[in-house]
Amino acid sequence: MKFNRRQWIQAVGLAGFAGCCSGCRFAPESGRHQWMFMTEHQELSWGAKVFEELVSREKASQNLPLVQLLSRVGNRIAEQANRSDFDWEFELVDSETRTAVCLPGGKVVVSEGILPLCENEAGLAVVLSHEVAHILARHGGERLSKGVLVNNAKDSWRSVTRADPNQKTERVMMAYGVVSEDSTPLPYSLSQELEADQIGVRLMANAGYNPNVATEFWKRLRQAGTEGTNEFLTVHTSNERREMSLMAAMGEAQQYYADCELKLGRGQAIVTPRS
Ligand SMILES: [Zn+2]
Repeated sequence: MKFNRRQWIQAVGLAGFAGCCSGCRFAPESGRHQWMFMTEHQELSWGAKVFEELVSREKASQNLPLVQLLSRVGNRIAEQANRSDFDWEFELVDSETRTAVCLPGGKVVVSEGILPLCENEAGLAVVLSHEVAHILARHGGERLSKGVLVNNAKDSWRSVTRADPNQKTERVMMAYGVVSEDSTPLPYSLSQELEADQIGVRLMANAGYNPNVATEFWKRLRQAGTEGTNEFLTVHTSNERREMSLMAAMGEAQQYYADCELKLGRGQAIVTPRS
């Protein structure tokens, strides 16, 4: 195939643009410009390491019905994520903290302490789909790339890649929303939250859970935030702007839910000894 002069100019222009912007990508849903200094392969490798570290630090839940419930809801959400290349794994840990995190590669860790806030399967689907959405949009990688961990993006990227293994793990944990005793919780930005809400509510609707539960859950979480420590709220700051944006996304999500063959509504109620 031969290019004419105009096609050559276009091809060279596109190649130049791609070369200049090897760190550029666009966020799903919003089309927002994202700087990304790392490959997805690097993210997957870090995700697996952080998952191992988290699981080794925590005690696995012995509550079999809850372990099975997490696996059931998680796999339904994972099926909608369109990432069959991920090795999805859902781990419930015996902890009172209110935390849930999804790491690159589909590794999900949820603490028992957040389950009473979920109230039912659909509430848990809100949490899981929101976490999965942060991973699909590569928000953790973006945080590491943008230098939100320290003041300068270049220093931040160097500080992560050159840090000793323990420091590196802590920094990567912070970027992916893990709350640990050794680090300060780092809230996602509002634009990242809005994207995760929009993607998340679609995932849960496609999985057969009533998306209206999402607005109920975030309101409940915000109210619970005034009643003591709430690790999940610290990382995923909820406010009226987010609630309004979520309401705006609800029409489309309800359409996805209406098209679902198997509608689960709110699913099974969650009863835990911590309720
Ligand atoms: Zn979030």
